[in-house]
Amino acid sequence: MACEMLPIPTASEYTMNSMNSDEILKIEALHVTFSTERGPVRAVNGVSLSLKRGEVLGVVGESGCGKTVTGRSIIRLLSEPQAQTPQGSIVYRPRIGEPVDVLKLEQFGKEMCHLRGKEIAMIFQEPMTSLTPVYTVGKQIMEKILTHADVDKAEARAQALELLKRVGISAPEQRIDEYPHQMSGGMRQRVMIAIALACDPQVLIADEPTTALDVTVQAQILALMRDLKSNMNSSILLITHDLGVIGEMADSVAVMYMGRVVEYADSVTLFTKPRHPYTRGLFRSIPLLTKNETSRLEPIAGTVPEPYAVPSGCPFRTRCPHAMPVCEKHDPPPVVTRDGGTVRCWLYNDTDPEGST
Ligand code: SF4
Repeated sequence: MACEMLPIPTASEYTMNSMNSDEILKIEALHVTFSTERGPVRAVNGVSLSLKRGEVLGVVGESGCGKTVTGRSIIRLLSEPQAQTPQGSIVYRPRIGEPVDVLKLEQFGKEMCHLRGKEIAMIFQEPMTSLTPVYTVGKQIMEKILTHADVDKAEARAQALELLKRVGISAPEQRIDEYPHQMSGGMRQRVMIAIALACDPQVLIADEPTTALDVTVQAQILALMRDLKSNMNSSILLITHDLGVIGEMADSVAVMYMGRVVEYADSVTLFTKPRHPYTRGLFRSIPLLTKNETSRLEPIAGTVPEPYAVPSGCPFRTRCPHAMPVCEKHDPPPVVTRDGGTVRCWLYNDTDPEGST
């Protein structure tokens, strides 16, 4: 008797079926390639991540490692011809209905426009260039509310006022009619957060939300994000190069290097027992209170290779103090560690996930 052929599940069907009930976003084997004059550049190379309900997932790495491209892929903000359509799957569990693979949706179609902003919102790095200089901040918050909610202008203004209060803007009745250039950097970032929160998103992607701010304002913005997370039970994907911000905020951390996740762990494990040589290098290159006052910081040797000429085998091998012959020939696969994280390095393998160092 002939066997009935079952359809081969696509990546997204597989991802949807394997999604746990506490997962709100699951990225599987994401690849994003940019076309440049010097040839194709693979900015994101097989990234897999999972974000749980109410979790802060930190994504950390040097500039150009693919953090922002990963974040923008989730809300489909990358456009052709420079960025080719992302490959892989990004499955999101909406408030109502079945999980959906956002990469299968039309980029500017009705469904994607509903998810972008209403269910998944993004806070950008530089509030001065992200806000429109010719509209008042009130108008910019109201525009978001009027786009996604069935309310009139008076109600939208009342909600905008409430949001400005919620993000800690003083004298909101006056500030609502001001332009971005009349505000400080910290206030502009609070306005950006107010816009992102306008529709109570389930997922907040915060791309270097404090990088452009001085340290005292940075601390205020982080405290605000912590409050929002606990009050709204939102999930946050926190993109940053700052391990201090990660230590303050993140429940779990993905360390990225040259477009791939080289280590993933809960933040306690990552900070107490970093495994990947790149992660250890990041920790050695920042000042820590536990370090001896006189000990010198150790930068990671060399520079990130040109994206057009990624080294064979492990992409970190040209900077790695532990590089071995196998590292030149073969790219290490992810190995699951005893703490439930993953690490991509030949120092670790399935039979010895704790490694030889
Ligand atoms: Fe270093 Fe080799 Fe591990 Fe790459 S695989 S990080 S080169 S030891």
